[in-house]
Amino acid sequence: MTQPLSNQETPAKAVVVAIDGPAASGKGTLSQRIADAFGFAHLDTGVLYRAVGVSVLRAGGDPADNAAAARAAYELHPEHPILQEVALRTDEAAQAASKVAAVPEVRAALLDFQRRFASHPPGGAPGAVLDGRDIGTVVCPDAQAKLFVTASVEVRAERRLRELQRRGIPAIPSDVLEDMKARDARDSQRAVAPLRPAVDAFVLDTSALDADQVFSMAVAHIGSKTGLKPAA
Ligand code: C5P
Repeated sequence: MTQPLSNQETPAKAVVVAIDGPAASGKGTLSQRIADAFGFAHLDTGVLYRAVGVSVLRAGGDPADNAAAARAAYELHPEHPILQEVALRTDEAAQAASKVAAVPEVRAALLDFQRRFASHPPGGAPGAVLDGRDIGTVVCPDAQAKLFVTASVEVRAERRLRELQRRGIPAIPSDVLEDMKARDARDSQRAVAPLRPAVDAFVLDTSALDADQVFSMAVAHIGSKTGLKPAA
């Protein structure tokens, strides 16, 4: 059993940066860069939903089946090897993720892990960056800085297409756009934790910005909320 800490020994409260936004908005790249710059831990929460979706598919189930999705979510734990698999990066995994993500029991099962990561960042990091869809609204409503990173669906589909081409995965542009629209609709119209900016989020439309411009604006916003500056 751990000893109770005196007031003087109480560790400083971790700084939490919440970064939400739709698929291919650039929030993943931005989140990792912000985490590196401030020395924070980073959690890509989409990976958790992708792992649940892929687990259901592998068990021969339907990701839209509440019971199967909930079972897979309760079986997921932070050291589960599936979380490292490249299979989570496919569009099939993304579509399955957005189906299990609409199941309330799945969201509830994944909540504790995400909140624990935010309050006790691994490796003793002084802060955590969590990226997803509902970090600023549901998972960490008290986050010191909240960003909502977005871009038009056409720009995001174009970015996704280029990414697939870079990885040598054949893709039809109109299919990529339709898949993106379907996922947007599922994510923003679901009853639980729909995709939307928190009222106190800084909305960053990246349609006409490059990665460095987005990074500078995000750093400026985080600085204004926390008083922190990137290390390098
Ligand atoms: O961010 P990523 O594209 O990896 O997320 C995959 C899917 O997981 C999303 O389309 C969304 O349905 C779900 N998700 C979610 N809440 C989060 C992160 C992801 O509902 N915080």
